[in-house]
Amino acid sequence: MTRFVIPPPATPSVAVADTPDRFPVRRIFCVGRNYAAHVREMGNDEREPPFFFTKPADSVVDDGAILDYPPETQNLHHEAELVVAIGTGGREIAEADALSHVWGYAAGNDLTRRDLQAAAKKAGRPWDWAKGFDRSAVCGPLRPVAATGHPASGRILCRVNGETRQEGDLAEMIWSVPEIIASLARSIELQPGDLVFTGTPAGVGPLERGDTCEVEIAGVGGVSVKIA
Ligand code: MN
Repeated sequence: MTRFVIPPPATPSVAVADTPDRFPVRRIFCVGRNYAAHVREMGNDEREPPFFFTKPADSVVDDGAILDYPPETQNLHHEAELVVAIGTGGREIAEADALSHVWGYAAGNDLTRRDLQAAAKKAGRPWDWAKGFDRSAVCGPLRPVAATGHPASGRILCRVNGETRQEGDLAEMIWSVPEIIASLARSIELQPGDLVFTGTPAGVGPLERGDTCEVEIAGVGGVSVKIA
């Protein structure tokens, strides 16, 4: 048996809806710029191919969490997103087979230190500090494919203190879930436990201390966090 010189870290995980079970999280991939209106609001070209960034697996946060306002930012933003949970890994996955690799879906919130992201973009530096900070990957209870099907359309919205800030439809995604999975699996070997945040519709904006931020996706579920 392996003897570790310090206690090994716990396995990060997210809740499975309506059960006491947990889904173990291996890695977190996020798609940048996947809704045309959000691409435009950020001043980018909507015809660009998809690209990815990552968050640490242990940045995942459950529904109902109370989050401290993160350090080194004055502009924390919400990003409502459909989260795909990978149940079966693989390399070189064809689009036609991609959905068979999905375990389930959840509503998520890709919390972003927007000011750090803007500085990183300007300096040509990585986005890690803007996107991959502690407790930045908010993920609601996962529902298995048997419960949700494979949602390709449906309303996705974000409310802050009950006021709608983002509203879109999954059908507006530039790159579909099968295309995203196929694209990822061309570059890396997908593994069971990987989560994929699939991009956010227009209307991203700041969260202040004391705000409650809810994301809701028709047929998938919701997730709510409060900023302390
Ligand atoms: Mn995002």
